[in-house]
Amino acid sequence: MQDPTKPVYPLRVAAELSRTSVYALRQYVDLGLVIPYRTPTNRYLYSQTDVQRILCIRKHLDEFGLNLAGMSTLFAQVPCWLIKPCSEADASQCDAYTSLNKPCWQVTTKGPACQQENCRTCPVYRLPEQCQDLKGLFRTFFPHNQETEP
Ligand code: SF4
Repeated sequence: MQDPTKPVYPLRVAAELSRTSVYALRQYVDLGLVIPYRTPTNRYLYSQTDVQRILCIRKHLDEFGLNLAGMSTLFAQVPCWLIKPCSEADASQCDAYTSLNKPCWQVTTKGPACQQENCRTCPVYRLPEQCQDLKGLFRTFFPHNQETEP
């Protein structure tokens, strides 16, 4: 079976598979909602997991009434420093720690822990592939301690 993260689809095919127009998909890329794989010859390719991500974005736009700015703001609410995770010293040097409308992979100044990272493969960027609600994701990452005293 083919690796679902392998970038194989050109833009037109990724758009077709995700029932998205080529124009809309270009917009998602321009806004940083989707980061395509860039080949050494500067071609952009998409994987099956990218298609899942695009479908998740479409679901939020079509069913929940978000617009593209809202989508970006939603991604910006993810506490990337807890998921990556980053030290307090790293977070204090990173715009993602305080940004309310830019996802961490879009901020201008990243902390030392992220400066050389490939965001495409980071668990923070990849969360929407599962297309769960944010609370559901947090329940996964930070399970409730059943034994906590009231
Ligand atoms: S590597 Fe990129 S996606 Fe991951 S936490 Fe850092 S900035 Fe965000």
